[in-house]
Amino acid sequence: ENLEKAIHLEDLPQAMFHMPLCMFRLMKRLEQNHHLKHGARLQLGLFLKDCGLSMDESLHFWKTEFSKGGISSDKFDKEYAYAIRHHYGREGKRASYTPFSCMKIIQQRPSAHEEHGCPFRELNSASLDTLLQTYGVEEAGCRASIVQKAQEGHFQVACGMTMQMKKTGQQIATSSEEFSPTTTHPNHYFFDSLATKEN
Ligand code: SF4
Repeated sequence: ENLEKAIHLEDLPQAMFHMPLCMFRLMKRLEQNHHLKHGARLQLGLFLKDCGLSMDESLHFWKTEFSKGGISSDKFDKEYAYAIRHHYGREGKRASYTPFSCMKIIQQRPSAHEEHGCPFRELNSASLDTLLQTYGVEEAGCRASIVQKAQEGHFQVACGMTMQMKKTGQQIATSSEEFSPTTTHPNHYFFDSLATKEN
C-alpha cells in the first residue's frame, strides 16, 4: 500500500506521527478518552477523509474508538454515524465537505473544554511543550524555539518548524530568507511529512 497516496485504517498508528500537531492531539485524545466533542470530530473527520479513509473505514474507526468509551453500537448509529456520512456527502445536501485549512482552524476559538483548533494558538507554553514531546520533538532546545515562535503569534511557522525539527532533531534558522517553513494546510503537512520520511 502506498502511504503517500492514501492511508487506510491499519496505517493510522504509524501515520499519526506524520499528522500535524492539531490532528495528532485529537488522535491522542481519542486514544485516551475514547471520545471527542463535535468540533474535534469535524476537524479530524474531514482531515482523515482527505487522507484517504473511505466512509466505511471512518465509520469503523469512530465506532471502534467510541465503543471503548462505552458508547453502544446502537447509540453510535443513532447519534454519530449521520454526521460521518454527512462529511462524505451521503446525507443532507449531499455535498462532499472539504477539510479545513490552517487559516480556518486557527480562526476557530474553541472554549476551554474543547480540543479542536490550532494547538500553537490554543495551548499555553507548558502544555505545548508536553505535546511536542509526545509527538517526538525530543530536543528541549528545539521545543523551546517552537514554543517561542508560537508565542510570538507565528503559529503556521511554528508548525513548519515542528516538522523540520522532528525530522532532523536540530534547530533551524527561520530567519533565513530561503527557508520559510510555513504550514498552510494540515493535509499538505501530512503528505509532505510522509513523502520525506526517512525509511
Ligand atoms: Fe494544524 Fe495548521 Fe495549526 Fe499546523 S498550523 S497545527 S496544520 S492548524
